[in-house]
Amino acid sequence: MKGWNEFEIGSVLFPFNEDGVQAQGKMREERSYTENSSRSASVAHWRVQKPVHNHDHCINCFFCWVYCPDSSILAKDDQMSGVDYVHCKGCGVCVSVCPTNPKSLLMFDENEVNEEALKQWPQKEEKQK
Ligand code: SF4
Ligand code: SF4
Repeated sequence: MKGWNEFEIGSVLFPFNEDGVQAQGKMREERSYTENSSRSASVAHWRVQKPVHNHDHCINCFFCWVYCPDSSILAKDDQMSGVDYVHCKGCGVCVSVCPTNPKSLLMFDENEVNEEALKQWPQKEEKQK
Protein backbone atom coordinates (compact mmCIF):
# COMPACT_ATOMS: atom_id res chain seq x y z
CA MET A 1 0.00 0.00 0.00
CA LYS A 2 1.25 3.51 -0.85
CA GLY A 3 1.87 6.15 1.80
CA TRP A 4 -0.04 9.46 1.53
CA ASN A 5 3.03 11.28 0.13
CA GLU A 6 3.54 8.72 -2.65
CA PHE A 7 0.36 9.63 -4.49
CA GLU A 8 0.50 12.16 -7.31
CA ILE A 9 -1.04 15.52 -6.34
CA GLY A 10 -4.66 15.60 -7.46
CA SER A 11 -5.03 11.82 -7.49
CA VAL A 12 -8.52 10.44 -7.01
CA LEU A 13 -8.73 7.37 -4.77
CA PHE A 14 -11.80 5.26 -5.33
CA PRO A 15 -13.28 3.98 -2.06
CA PHE A 16 -15.17 0.93 -3.36
CA ASN A 17 -14.19 -2.19 -5.27
CA GLU A 18 -17.73 -2.22 -6.65
CA ASP A 19 -20.05 0.29 -8.30
CA GLY A 20 -20.29 3.29 -5.96
CA VAL A 21 -24.05 3.79 -6.34
CA GLN A 22 -24.73 0.16 -5.50
CA ALA A 23 -22.27 0.27 -2.59
CA GLN A 24 -24.01 3.27 -1.05
CA GLY A 25 -27.27 1.33 -0.96
CA LYS A 26 -25.68 -1.30 1.28
CA MET A 27 -24.86 -1.33 4.99
CA ARG A 28 -21.29 -0.25 5.74
CA GLU A 29 -20.24 -3.78 6.75
CA GLU A 30 -21.53 -5.22 3.45
CA ARG A 31 -19.55 -2.86 1.18
CA SER A 32 -16.27 -3.86 -0.44
CA TYR A 33 -13.71 -1.11 0.25
CA THR A 34 -10.44 -0.61 -1.67
CA GLU A 35 -7.24 -0.92 0.34
CA ASN A 36 -6.59 2.83 -0.03
CA SER A 37 -9.99 4.02 1.22
CA SER A 38 -9.88 5.67 4.63
CA ARG A 39 -12.22 2.91 5.82
CA SER A 40 -9.44 0.33 5.26
CA ALA A 41 -6.39 2.53 5.79
CA SER A 42 -6.70 4.57 8.96
CA VAL A 43 -5.33 8.13 8.82
CA ALA A 44 -5.54 8.59 12.60
CA HIS A 45 -1.74 8.46 12.94
CA TRP A 46 -1.51 11.75 10.98
CA ARG A 47 -3.06 13.52 13.95
CA VAL A 48 -1.07 15.82 16.25
CA GLN A 49 -4.23 17.41 17.65
CA LYS A 50 -7.68 15.91 18.12
CA PRO A 51 -11.16 17.41 18.33
CA VAL A 52 -12.94 16.99 21.66
CA HIS A 53 -16.73 17.25 21.82
CA ASN A 54 -18.54 19.01 24.65
CA HIS A 55 -22.18 17.84 24.92
CA ASP A 56 -23.07 20.75 27.25
CA HIS A 57 -22.85 23.33 24.44
CA CYS A 58 -23.79 21.25 21.38
CA ILE A 59 -27.04 22.17 19.63
CA ASN A 60 -26.91 19.13 17.28
CA CYS A 61 -26.87 21.24 14.15
CA PHE A 62 -24.71 18.60 12.41
CA PHE A 63 -22.53 21.14 10.58
CA CYS A 64 -19.52 19.12 11.79
CA TRP A 65 -21.04 15.90 10.42
CA VAL A 66 -21.68 17.48 7.00
CA TYR A 67 -18.24 19.05 6.63
CA CYS A 68 -15.97 16.37 8.13
CA PRO A 69 -13.95 15.05 5.17
CA ASP A 70 -13.44 11.66 6.82
CA SER A 71 -16.97 10.90 8.04
CA SER A 72 -15.59 10.82 11.57
CA ILE A 73 -18.43 12.55 13.39
CA LEU A 74 -20.55 9.96 15.17
CA ALA A 75 -24.28 10.31 15.67
CA LYS A 76 -26.83 8.33 17.63
CA ASP A 77 -30.59 8.90 17.99
CA ASP A 78 -30.41 12.17 15.99
CA GLN A 79 -27.71 13.57 18.29
CA MET A 80 -24.01 14.12 17.75
CA SER A 81 -22.38 11.53 19.97
CA GLY A 82 -18.63 12.01 19.54
CA VAL A 83 -15.67 11.54 17.22
CA ASP A 84 -14.42 8.39 15.55
CA TYR A 85 -10.75 8.63 16.56
CA VAL A 86 -9.83 5.63 14.40
CA HIS A 87 -10.49 7.65 11.25
CA CYS A 88 -10.30 11.34 12.29
CA LYS A 89 -7.11 12.91 10.91
CA GLY A 90 -7.22 16.04 13.05
CA CYS A 91 -7.81 18.58 10.27
CA GLY A 92 -9.92 20.85 12.51
CA VAL A 93 -12.66 21.52 9.94
CA CYS A 94 -15.35 20.41 12.40
CA VAL A 95 -14.12 22.97 14.94
CA SER A 96 -14.11 25.75 12.34
CA VAL A 97 -17.72 25.18 11.32
CA CYS A 98 -19.16 24.65 14.81
CA PRO A 99 -21.42 27.70 15.40
CA THR A 100 -21.93 27.68 19.17
CA ASN A 101 -20.45 30.10 21.69
CA PRO A 102 -18.29 28.68 23.13
CA LYS A 103 -17.63 26.07 20.49
CA SER A 104 -18.82 22.54 21.15
CA LEU A 105 -15.77 21.05 19.49
CA LEU A 106 -12.23 22.25 20.21
CA MET A 107 -8.81 20.96 19.20
CA PHE A 108 -6.52 19.63 21.95
CA ASP A 109 -3.16 17.94 21.96
CA GLU A 110 -3.47 14.35 20.77
CA ASN A 111 -2.26 13.08 24.16
CA GLU A 112 -4.69 15.16 26.26
CA VAL A 113 -7.23 13.12 28.21
CA ASN A 114 -10.74 14.11 27.06
CA GLU A 115 -12.06 14.55 30.63
CA GLU A 116 -9.19 16.99 31.32
CA ALA A 117 -9.87 18.85 28.07
CA LEU A 118 -13.51 19.33 29.11
CA LYS A 119 -12.37 20.97 32.38
CA GLN A 120 -10.42 23.58 30.36
CA TRP A 121 -13.39 24.61 28.20
CA PRO A 122 -13.62 28.40 27.63
CA GLN A 123 -16.53 30.51 28.83
CA LYS A 124 -19.01 32.14 26.49
CA GLU A 125 -17.47 35.10 24.66
CA GLU A 126 -19.32 38.41 25.14
CA LYS A 127 -20.29 40.30 21.98
CA GLN A 128 -18.19 43.38 21.20
CA LYS A 129 -20.27 46.58 21.49
S1 SF4 B 1 -10.75 16.99 12.87
FE1 SF4 B 1 -11.24 16.74 10.66
S2 SF4 B 1 -11.31 14.53 10.35
FE2 SF4 B 1 -11.43 14.85 12.56
S3 SF4 B 1 -13.64 14.89 13.03
FE3 SF4 B 1 -12.98 17.02 12.68
S4 SF4 B 1 -13.38 17.42 10.51
FE4 SF4 B 1 -13.39 15.18 10.80
S1 SF4 C 1 -21.18 21.71 14.66
FE1 SF4 C 1 -20.96 22.00 16.89
S2 SF4 C 1 -23.06 22.41 17.62
FE2 SF4 C 1 -23.23 21.50 15.57
S3 SF4 C 1 -23.48 19.28 15.96
FE3 SF4 C 1 -21.29 19.68 15.64
S4 SF4 C 1 -20.48 19.96 17.72
FE4 SF4 C 1 -22.69 20.20 17.84
